Amino acid sequence: MKNKLDTLQRFVFENTPVRGNLVNLTSTLQLALNKQHLPAGLKRALGELMAASALLTATLKMNGSLVLQIQSKGALKLLVVECSSDFGIRATAKWTGDVDDQQSLFELIEHGQFMITLDPKDGGQAYQGIVALEGDNISTILENYMLRSEQIDTRIWLCCDGHSAAGMLLQKLPETMNQVTQRQDLTEQDSDTWNRVGHLASTITDDELLHLPTETLLKRLFNEEDIRLFDASHIAFFCSCSRDSVANMLRMLGNDELSSIIEEHGHIEVNCDFCNAHYSFDKVDTAQLLMSEVSAKANPKIH
Ligand SMILES: [Zn+2]
Repeated sequence: MKNKLDTLQRFVFENTPVRGNLVNLTSTLQLALNKQHLPAGLKRALGELMAASALLTATLKMNGSLVLQIQSKGALKLLVVECSSDFGIRATAKWTGDVDDQQSLFELIEHGQFMITLDPKDGGQAYQGIVALEGDNISTILENYMLRSEQIDTRIWLCCDGHSAAGMLLQKLPETMNQVTQRQDLTEQDSDTWNRVGHLASTITDDELLHLPTETLLKRLFNEEDIRLFDASHIAFFCSCSRDSVANMLRMLGNDELSSIIEEHGHIEVNCDFCNAHYSFDKVDTAQLLMSEVSAKANPKIH
């Protein structure tokens, strides 16, 4: 079947506080997977987490990035996905030892933690929430997180077949006090809507989620509902690393550390875990990098 474009599409159930969005990733997932050789179970988990990052980003009013991260002391060390508010996604995984293709994410996790970070671009306060990994799939973990930390009823469906990843999110928006008094008679109706669409949505199959065009899928699931579908947003693989960002990171290691690496190896090599970009700093580059630190310190007003 022909691949769908990589898109995020929002929709609302008219005259109700229930909204949703659908995501489909193929080339974005392929580009992320091409940078690393992952066992099959981790490929699927990375794809699901990438789909989830776009679904959640679409619910936020923020200019910046959302980072979803799973850390553990088991064979899986780290699974991290970053999605910017304009839907540029990057992702990487780290693990130790032999992981075979049959092992699922949750067989590789011990003492796992799930972290969600909102990093505003305009210098606003970053926010980080940490929860224990409860549940044996990524959707359940995120649903629990949204309910407990944000008090927002959320249902999430995710799947990844190793080639494409897809997901659907439904949310019941909390009402403000003003709305509650104005619409008291409607709140019961709202929770009926929420229960009904959740029930209808739970019939979705992985195959439908991965392969059906958005309109067809919504029609099949919610035939009787009045749904407004918004224009699709385009999603692409994007890594924010640059020679400058690597130079800044190296500066933080300090003069002594950098000088000793140069003395031993003659150059400093850095590889980006997300996009595999390679950055090389020779003796002259490193001296310049340290010089610019000195000048930045001497003239704090410049730059
Ligand atoms: Zn990169």
